[in-house]
Amino acid sequence: MMPVTFRSRMALLFGLLSMLVGLPTYYFVSQSHRSQLLEDRRAVLQGVAKAAATVIAENLVERRREIELLAQSEAFTQLPLDSQTLTQSLERLKRSYPHYSWIGVTDTSGVVKAATSHHLVNLSAAQRPWFQQGLQGTFVGDLHEAKLLAPLLPRPESGQPIRFIDFASPVVSPDGERRGVLASHAHWQWAGAVLKAATPPNVAETRTDIFIVNAQNTVIYPEHGTDGANVPLAQDIEGAQRARVFWGWGDGQNYLTVSSAVPEPTPTSHLGWRVVVRQPESTVLQAISQLQWSILLITASAGAVFLWLTWVGANAMSRPLERLTATARRIQLGEEDTRFDAPGSSLELTRLAEALSGMASTLQQRKHALETANQALETKVHERTQALHRLNQELELAAHTDALTGLPNRMAANKVLASEHVRFKRSAMAYTILMLDVDFFKKVNDTHGHLAGDAVLKHVAGVIRRSLRESDFVARTGGEEFMVLLPMTTLQQALPVAEKIRVAVASTAVAPAGQVTISIGVGQAVASDSDADAALRLADEWLYKAKADGRNRVAAPGH
Ligand code: GH3
Ligand code: MG
Ligand code: MG
Repeated sequence: MMPVTFRSRMALLFGLLSMLVGLPTYYFVSQSHRSQLLEDRRAVLQGVAKAAATVIAENLVERRREIELLAQSEAFTQLPLDSQTLTQSLERLKRSYPHYSWIGVTDTSGVVKAATSHHLVNLSAAQRPWFQQGLQGTFVGDLHEAKLLAPLLPRPESGQPIRFIDFASPVVSPDGERRGVLASHAHWQWAGAVLKAATPPNVAETRTDIFIVNAQNTVIYPEHGTDGANVPLAQDIEGAQRARVFWGWGDGQNYLTVSSAVPEPTPTSHLGWRVVVRQPESTVLQAISQLQWSILLITASAGAVFLWLTWVGANAMSRPLERLTATARRIQLGEEDTRFDAPGSSLELTRLAEALSGMASTLQQRKHALETANQALETKVHERTQALHRLNQELELAAHTDALTGLPNRMAANKVLASEHVRFKRSAMAYTILMLDVDFFKKVNDTHGHLAGDAVLKHVAGVIRRSLRESDFVARTGGEEFMVLLPMTTLQQALPVAEKIRVAVASTAVAPAGQVTISIGVGQAVASDSDADAALRLADEWLYKAKADGRNRVAAPGH
């Protein structure tokens, strides 16, 4: 797995956080907005319905009042019902309001006595409900088709039957006697005109429909009804207020539906009208979904800004860390003078930088101390090695040197003899060995003491050394016994050397022992020698011979 950077981790974390916070917020806000919007819509439609119902009721009351007032006027209560004055009053009232189709007055038997345009005069309206109920008191009738008047009025272009609502009021004489009934028929176009005044201008745009429904749940306005759909019952809508806003109208569509009862125009009337206002669900939801989209857009933009800020912030936070890393790398590569610093960053990072600086300088100090110690150790080792070497050399020298005389000892002699033998084998140039022994040395010791003996030995060694060339070799091989090796020297050439030594020793003296003599045996190496010691053995044999012959002499093969 790739290591994840600090800033992408932060961005991921805050992205998840913003989703965790943003999505429920979005859901909650859009849900609450949805219900709020639905409620607002419902309230607006309710307002429209209420206003329409109020205007209709007020108009009904106004028409009723006009008839009542006219019926109570002096002319109607006192003048004969068929007088010209009454007819003129009726005509005046009809002209004052365009939707009056007919206004007339009957006598108590229902015969029309006076009427606008003289329509129905002298005809009986005894069977009409407005007459029958109008005789009892003020009457406002439900919408109905024109009966008696239908043939007298021009047929409307729509081909629809002419429909009226009736207003009637009894005509009573000043002494309380009933004289007849005053009635008016208002053309139902009246409803359209009244509603137009009560509806807001944007109903078409919002596809809002307004209906007037009667007590039988039949649409009485507009003329064409609901085109076959069923109006939800008033008790259903009002019973479910708020809990349910959308209602099916049986046409496959749901509508936001509200209903408002039209107040009765008289205390005794039972019209039971209501105004129903509807708006298609799709229209309502469209507005809601637009709103939800805007909320989503705002939420998403806020989330994006939040993420961007997180990214920028994390960048700013990780930069000092990266700087510390780079410093650590430089120190790793050997740049010792580098310092950790995190300018302008948080307290924690500043402290980390200080701690790292402290650590780096401690490590560097330790490193330097270690280097110094190492150097001292190396020097000491060097010194000790040299001392050891010197000691070894001394030991080597001691091992091969005779302490008393300072001459090479027996071991050194063996080595020199072996190498000379090898050289001789290669070059065939002979070497000769002299074996020398102090005569009657025991007597020197016995007579003068051991120290005097030592002095004699030192003296003899010096004399022998001085009698030889530099290339010749001499060693003390025993108590008072010396060996001389003469390289590239034959027996013949060696004899004078031996003699020279013998004479030199014999002619010098050392106190307190005085003069001593030596005997010398000579042996030359030959090609047939089995080993290096052959010439030595030979010289030894001839030394015995010299002793035997009386001492202080040189003895050699053939002499
Ligand atoms: P010859 O003439 O037959 O050689 O008789 P010599 O007395 O010299 O021989 P011998 O072998 O009998 O005696 C040698 C003596 O040398 C015996 C010993 O005490 C003495 N000697 C050997 N080494 C030393 C030494 O380092 N110092 C002294 N002072 N005496 C030594
Ligand atoms: Mg001896
Ligand atoms: Mg001797």
